[in-house]
Amino acid sequence: MSTPQPRPEILGVSPYVGGESKLAGVNRTIKLSSNEGAFGPSPGAQAAFRATSEEIHRYPDGSAADLRAAIGRRFDLDPDRIVCGAGSDDLIYQLCLAYGGAGTELIMTEHGFSIYQIAGQYAGTRVVKVPERNRTADVDRILAAVSPATKSVFIANPNNPTGTMLTQREMERLRAGLPAEVLLVIDAAYAEYVDRADFDAGTLLVNANDNTVMTRTFSKMWGLGGMRVGWAYAPAPIVDVLNRVRGPFNVSIAGQAAAIAALAEPGWLERCRTHNLEYRAKLTTALRAAGIAVGDSEGNFVLADFDTDAKADAANAFLRTRGLIVRGVRGYGLPTCLRITVGTAEEISLVSDALTEFMKSHG
Ligand SMILES: *Cc1c(COP(=O)(O)O)cnc(C)c1O
Repeated sequence: MSTPQPRPEILGVSPYVGGESKLAGVNRTIKLSSNEGAFGPSPGAQAAFRATSEEIHRYPDGSAADLRAAIGRRFDLDPDRIVCGAGSDDLIYQLCLAYGGAGTELIMTEHGFSIYQIAGQYAGTRVVKVPERNRTADVDRILAAVSPATKSVFIANPNNPTGTMLTQREMERLRAGLPAEVLLVIDAAYAEYVDRADFDAGTLLVNANDNTVMTRTFSKMWGLGGMRVGWAYAPAPIVDVLNRVRGPFNVSIAGQAAAIAALAEPGWLERCRTHNLEYRAKLTTALRAAGIAVGDSEGNFVLADFDTDAKADAANAFLRTRGLIVRGVRGYGLPTCLRITVGTAEEISLVSDALTEFMKSHG
């Protein structure tokens, strides 16, 4: 064969499937398929984005110093231990490439976030998926899966798409049980939504260890999924590694400006969190009343279980006729489920009503 060939493991990668955003033949579509914040981008972030338009011939600050300082202030962290990326996916890729490779293993859980598998395989790492318990990461099973080849454990907390989480104590137990040379990556994309006293986003474990990283994103509560901005909080040696391998200008001028402004928007986090708590509960209650099994979620989405693949598919098709786009999660080993983002009050009432009606004819 005389065409260029990638490394053999590349062709084993299944491309990431994102939430759909358009439906043919429907006037108004409501997108509840990608966990984008219910309120869109904040006014301040939009203004900051527009204001960068005259500067976009300039390269961005490659060190994202102002953005790291703003994150540090907001979350009470040392900016020198923050690395920004083109979304947290970017940083997950860099971690997988830097701490993986042929002959090594990456551990994730059964219904863990799919980027770990994609980025792990890309790196040439063997990706080991560990069974969960009640759709929740199981610390004992993760620890039992550790082998001499294990280089990293990736865990989303709370997890997408299950919405379940590990408590701070469980995460601590995981860290304590892992060999010191195994990197633990805590992907806290939904941390801003968690309202439990027994949760920590990962800061405490990063501070207490030199082998643990927390990744965060501006794509969910901060409403900037389209800008691609994420960050990692890590021990200095891992910050050093990321700064060697990441793209030198990985966060655009507009992305940096919008993210700084999003953090400064008065009351944004509180407003989003309050809305999410109220409407996540309303959605959960409505779906349960309709006869659908819904687990407790700590994120800005719920996982609705329809019992059979066929019923989940039928529910999805029914929602689509009403312009409601939710997320099928077959690729996550959850073919009987649909993941539904907590949208606006109106969107939650539309999706609740539609599924209630669906269940009347399919219960
Ligand atoms: C949405 C999400 C991310 C964030 O991805 P970005 O690249 O920052 O947009 C990371 N991890 C999980 C589990 C997510 O659901």
